[in-house]
Formats: sequence, structure tokens, C-alpha cells
Amino acid sequence: MTKPLPLNSTIGIIGGGQLGRMLAMAAARLGYRTVILEPQADCPAAQAANRQIVAAYDDPAALDELAKVSAVVTYEFENVPVVAAERLAASVPVHPPPRALKVSQDRLAEKTFLNGIGVPTADFRAVDSDADLHAALDAFGGNGILKTRRLGYDGKGQRVFRSHTGDVTGSVAAMGGVPLILESFVPFEREISIIAARGIDGGLSAFDPAENVHRDGILHTSTLPASVSPTTAKAATGAAFSILGALDYVGVIGVEFFVLPDGGLLANEIAPRVHNSGHWTEAACAVSQFEQHIRAVAGLPLGDPRRHSDCVMENLIGDDVFRAPALLAEADLVLHLYGKAEARPGRKMGHFTRLLRR
Ligand code: AMP
Repeated sequence: MTKPLPLNSTIGIIGGGQLGRMLAMAAARLGYRTVILEPQADCPAAQAANRQIVAAYDDPAALDELAKVSAVVTYEFENVPVVAAERLAASVPVHPPPRALKVSQDRLAEKTFLNGIGVPTADFRAVDSDADLHAALDAFGGNGILKTRRLGYDGKGQRVFRSHTGDVTGSVAAMGGVPLILESFVPFEREISIIAARGIDGGLSAFDPAENVHRDGILHTSTLPASVSPTTAKAATGAAFSILGALDYVGVIGVEFFVLPDGGLLANEIAPRVHNSGHWTEAACAVSQFEQHIRAVAGLPLGDPRRHSDCVMENLIGDDVFRAPALLAEADLVLHLYGKAEARPGRKMGHFTRLLRR
């Protein structure tokens, strides 16, 4: 086993949102310091960290400063510029590896990678023109979801086609003229996700699958246990482990799946970071996904992922945050707010987990 990061070492985190905040809190509990690279001053992560470098994610001087002060660098979002991660990796360990960013930033590369290692996905076609779209819709019987290949999240940058037979002229321009992908429409029964981790020594660990419900394209609830068979749960974990191994990954990953009526699985998305659908772990497991990630990147033993309670995690979006006092009056409820000053519509302000009896 590699030597663990010494106490009081500094972990650099690229990205200043709530995931970075919760990583910083977990790092502090394990005796580490954190520095956040984030252009927005007083970001949620910086409020819980030792220091913030206020600069763009691809600012060379800021990256060099981050590399200088950090013993290891990690990130909390998948759109970290790959060149930035590679620049850092030349002088400091970067976990997860920059290749995980490359794969997950482009839906076409992601699905090609997944299929290449034997993890099935929805059928897909690259779409760069209206003619491509026409041909792809033809192949999928007029049904499909057109998505931007890059920079899509929470259902943004998507258009649904159902039984489409007409003209598609102008569709690619209407999506911004950027590279697109058409995915066949998956008649899924439910959506689940696996939060898994791989240590520096290659050891693997996974939390139980969560069953996820989205509202307006944003995660609404994650419920444990998911209503899936042990075979489906095992297959999801196996797929996540294959992904971790193939990427020579270190850290926590989130993998989202569609569950088909026969219990089969199609992977939808991989997130090379801690994930919203793993927030329940802070309340229902001895070791949260945030601590698991810090343990992995610091070369510490991975924690036991077993769950001591059933639970439901719910996101607080926009004005939902004002439910906090009422929620705090409930027993067996763990609340987590993100320190964001303004409760804008659609903005993730916090979440809570209700622990249920088993
Ligand atoms: P995504 O941005 O790819 O995570 O998609 C957001 C949500 O849209 C997913 O969680 C699904 O509920 C739905 N969705 C995405 N892709 C498909 C698909 N190929 N078939 C059916 N539903 C989908």
C-alpha cells in the first residue's frame, strides 16, 4: 500500500460548489487542509475550506499556484478543462485521472467508451447536421432524445422526438449548431445510480444503488433501497467497477443507469466525482461518499460502504430552502445547506435525508 497523505497536507479542489464544500468538510475531519480553485469569490466550497484561489479554472498562474500548495489535486465537477488537469498532473498527483474528464465531457466519447468495455447504453448516433439527424431518427423509428455532446447537465440542452416523421430542417441550428448526439428513447421502469470508489491500491468499494426520481430534469429524490432485484444491483455494481478499472481511476465515481422492465440495465451517464444521488450516504452510512473520496485520493483505506438505515434524500431547490426550520423539527432527519446567498429558481440550495426504520 502506498503511504497515506500525511496529516495537515493540503488537498487542492477544482470547483467551488456544494460538492467541493462537502469534500472540504470531509477532508477537515480527516485532518487535511483544502484549497479551492474557483472564479466566484466566497463560493460555497471556500466557506468550508482553508483558502480559495479566485481565478478561472484554466488560468495557468492559478493552476501553478494550486499545484505548488497541494499534495494532491481533485475536482468536484466534470467540466474541468482537460488541459488544466493535464497541466496540474505534470507536477502533482491528480485524482481522478484526466482521462476520466475526457471520457465524461463528451456524450459520444462516453457511450463509445462504455460500449467498448462491455457496459451497454442506449443506441446512439453522432449528429452534426440535419441530414445526420434525419438518418438517425429513421434508424430509431422516429423516437429519440437529441442532446448536446458537451456541457449538458440536469436535462439542459436536450430535445425529445416522439414518432417524428416530418422535416428536421433547422433542428441542429436550433440546438446552437454544436456537435450533438441522438440517443434512442429508453422505455425505462426506473432510474438508479451507483456511487463507487477505487483506492490508490486498486481496491474497490460501492454503496448500495439509489433509486432516483427527477423533476424538471433535476434530481428530486434518491431512495434506499432501490426497488431492484439483487441481480440488477450486482450488475450495476459490476459495471461501475469495470469503469473504475478501465480508467485506472482513483476516487469516487457516480454512474447513472436506466432499469428496463426485465431488470436489464443501460448506463446513462458517468460523473467522475461525488454525485448528488450519493448525498444520502452522509446520513445512512458510517463513511459518506465525500469521506470515501478523500480517503481514496489521500491513499487511506476505503471505508465500509454498508448502510445502517433505509432513507430518502430530497433536494432543496430554490425557495425549498425556506423549509429548513420545519425540517429541523423532525426526528431522524439530517439537513445540509450549501451557504448560497440567493435562492434562485432551479438552484440547488441544500438537501436533507430522512432516515427510515429498517
Ligand atoms: P441526462 O442529462 O442524460 O442525465 O438526462 C436527464 C434525464 O432525461 C434522465 O435522467 C432521464 O430521466 C431522461 N433521459 C435521458 N436520456 C434518455 C433516453 N435515452 N431515454 C429516455 N429517457 C432519457
